Amino acid sequence: MSRLPGLLSKLPPSVAHFVEGVLQRVPALRHQLDRQYDALVTDLDAALHPYRGRLPAYTRLPAQGRDRADILAEMATLQQEEQTRWRAGYVSGAVYHGDSEHIDFLNRVYALNSQSNPLHFDLWPSTVKYEAEIVAMTAHLLGAANTPDAIVGTVTSGGTESILLAMRSYRDRGRRERGITRARIVAPTTAHAAFDKAAQSFDMELVRVAVDADYRADVEDMAAAIDRNTVALVGSAPSFPHGVVDPIPALAELAQTKGIGLHVDACLGGFVLPFARELGYDAPDFDFRLPGVTSMSADTHKYGYAAKGTSVVLYRGEALRRNQYYAVANWPGGLYFSPTLAGSRPGALSAACWAAMVSMGESGYRAAAASILATAQYIRRTIERMPDLVVLGDPLFVIAFTSRTLDIYRVLDAMTARGWSLNGLHRPAAIHLCVTLRHTEPGVAQRFLDDLAEAVATVKVQPAAKGGMAPVYGMAATLPMHGLVEELLKRIVDALYRVEQPQ
Ligand SMILES: *Cc1c(COP(=O)(O)O)cnc(C)c1O
Repeated sequence: MSRLPGLLSKLPPSVAHFVEGVLQRVPALRHQLDRQYDALVTDLDAALHPYRGRLPAYTRLPAQGRDRADILAEMATLQQEEQTRWRAGYVSGAVYHGDSEHIDFLNRVYALNSQSNPLHFDLWPSTVKYEAEIVAMTAHLLGAANTPDAIVGTVTSGGTESILLAMRSYRDRGRRERGITRARIVAPTTAHAAFDKAAQSFDMELVRVAVDADYRADVEDMAAAIDRNTVALVGSAPSFPHGVVDPIPALAELAQTKGIGLHVDACLGGFVLPFARELGYDAPDFDFRLPGVTSMSADTHKYGYAAKGTSVVLYRGEALRRNQYYAVANWPGGLYFSPTLAGSRPGALSAACWAAMVSMGESGYRAAAASILATAQYIRRTIERMPDLVVLGDPLFVIAFTSRTLDIYRVLDAMTARGWSLNGLHRPAAIHLCVTLRHTEPGVAQRFLDDLAEAVATVKVQPAAKGGMAPVYGMAATLPMHGLVEELLKRIVDALYRVEQPQ
């Protein structure tokens, strides 16, 4: 690890911010930083591009089209290699169902519908039906039958788009009804990064409020952050980092009292929490049963067990949903309207989503939730008995843990060395396992726990190994200067899109 960031991390935040500004301006120092960034990214490069040198790299179209059978064979090989880790349950989240028959079924549904585009609703009325029903079924699961209001929504491309659309809807409602020019959203620090993306994309102010000792939204502090421009509060059910459910009933009451919206981000929990409560797990009310909850996001492509590329955003009442529509009547290309950010959309993904929901049924989701929750609680209880590890908060099915005695990122690297792909968290430093159906297969949870015990033992005897993600996370967690770390992350994105030049 380069010396400069290490040095900077020792400075107090205010000094560090000043130094960061200077560093960005002084050319010689900038140059040194640039070289260090380049060195870090070069180290990562091989890991980002494992097929370099092994497969042909295209920087322009092949002059003649390649043989289809050849393309399929090449892809089958890569797919075969890449599936081993997630199939065997070595991965946190990512693939939420993953049984072969389920995947084969979704693939057949996709193939049947691969040409469908709901933008052309006249050509594919079947997709229109699927999408309306996906929304209705999701709304029903999230309390639509227990409120007099109409719970409506749309299908989107993923949790991020659901969140972007909901935030923009609140912004536009605030602008129209209250004349707000710069809308504020108040969210706990643990709410998903998609809320930052929404604020940046739509020129809104996002105020992040520190969570309590149990990693749940602090309702009093959130109340204090509400100003005249505030259009909505955010709560998670549960949060991505620590898997804990925010005190949604109190947030809902606060939102109602203030006359503002409350978005409950149930991207992760939308298809698990309704059953967790039935199964006797402790979770607060979190959905449209609470009158103060005005919108929700629920990811069908996570625990809804659909293929990647769908999510649902829901609103209390048609009027709020209207804000997200796009309609233009004076474009030479014709009368144009669309419900979400995209124009043309993959109808086949909506068909596959509908098929996943209808084939699972309530009983299927209940059974899946039961085994995921039981597995997660077993993992949690076992980690709680490991003397070097501490579980954060009171989680349901995403288990975050840290250590008071060891560098938890070294444990993360030791787990990576054993084939695991876990999530690194920071502020505070921790790692998590998002438990899916993959981990409910016989032996998987035990293997995780055995490997974790071994990883801890390894780190205890060798606390300062070189390489891995530990230095990167260590730097990001201790460096008070976001700008430098964000620059590094953007360089990694550049690196992802770099194609090797043919020799
Ligand atoms: C996954 C997730 C999101 C974002 O969803 P994408 O589908 O990755 O865009 C938002 N919130 C929570 C709580 C999530 O777990």
